[in-house]
Amino acid sequence: MLIAELEDQLVDAKNVERGRPFVCPGCHLPVRLRRGSRVQPYFAHLPGALCPLQNEAESQQHVQGKRQLMTFFAAWGQPELERILPKIQQRADVWLVRKQPIALEFQCSPISRAEVASRTAGYRQLGVYPMWLLGKRYAKQRLTWRTLDRFASWLPGWGLCLLFWDVETCLLRVDHHLCQVATGQFSWGTSYLRDVTDLQSRSGVYLATPRPNLLAFRRQLTADLQRESAGLRDVQEAVYLSGHHLAGFPEQLATMAVTPPGFGKGLLLWRVVMTAWLFQTKQFDEQEVHRLSRAALILIGGQLQAVRFNVAPALQRAETTLLQDWVRLGKLERRSQGWQVVGQPQWTADLAAYLVRSAHGSRRGSKW
Ligand SMILES: [Zn+2]
Repeated sequence: MLIAELEDQLVDAKNVERGRPFVCPGCHLPVRLRRGSRVQPYFAHLPGALCPLQNEAESQQHVQGKRQLMTFFAAWGQPELERILPKIQQRADVWLVRKQPIALEFQCSPISRAEVASRTAGYRQLGVYPMWLLGKRYAKQRLTWRTLDRFASWLPGWGLCLLFWDVETCLLRVDHHLCQVATGQFSWGTSYLRDVTDLQSRSGVYLATPRPNLLAFRRQLTADLQRESAGLRDVQEAVYLSGHHLAGFPEQLATMAVTPPGFGKGLLLWRVVMTAWLFQTKQFDEQEVHRLSRAALILIGGQLQAVRFNVAPALQRAETTLLQDWVRLGKLERRSQGWQVVGQPQWTADLAAYLVRSAHGSRRGSKW
């Protein structure tokens, strides 16, 4: 921590000398001033102190970053280092005073999902907007659902974002328009900002998302099934019980649509499972669609709710589109009570059968 209390005054570690009775402004236990030749000065609790506002252990990166973020975000509001929020027992790394205050959290070390969720909920309870800026450790990692689930949030003009702070370059990295293509891969754009006003004024450039490669996807499914890949076995079983093979899914399920991350192995697999399930029956209603839709999402490894964004609206859109597609293709009919199955989508037995058929189909100019 960079701010401590000394005789009822808040003091900054860079302005004081060692040997005074500093206490933590959160728990009022004694803290010690640490300074070295390489690390900027900071205060540390004594070993074993149980501070309810303990954030991550100070590192050179964290100390330096907090001070840099104060400068970088100053145009957005008067910055304050380490504001204590007694009501929610939290300490914001940097606080920006404005109509809706912003709490900046510079996250350099690992943190559990539960911890991010509880800190986020705390800030929301006070009407404060939390912004997580991720340190080097995260910047170097391959993008995973784990990180998206904890930290991704919507920013106007930028879509779903992850923010990174680099203490060496003092640049804000914005990974923006984060989404998932139908075959499951994440897609996003990256911008580096020198000035915080760019975050407000300039929108992230719109990106064309890659077109999913359907044949590669069928091959991948087949290979994963042969390897008995754990996550896919359950999906294949579900589809198999309806008499089909995953890799032989109907061509018409192909889609260029993207979803927010949270769709597990991707929208396409969700459409495959849903189609297998819905066409097992003669008719179904909206409630049944919702029930199956959620079950299919979980089956493909998806999740309805991330800490800071909701996947449910996208799932709803996916339901509507899938039903419209099959109605348009003449396999479903809309009735007052729901939908009536009036035809069966065409599945092939497996990948091999698909390849044979598409070899014939290609002469007619198959779309995918
Ligand atoms: Zn404390």
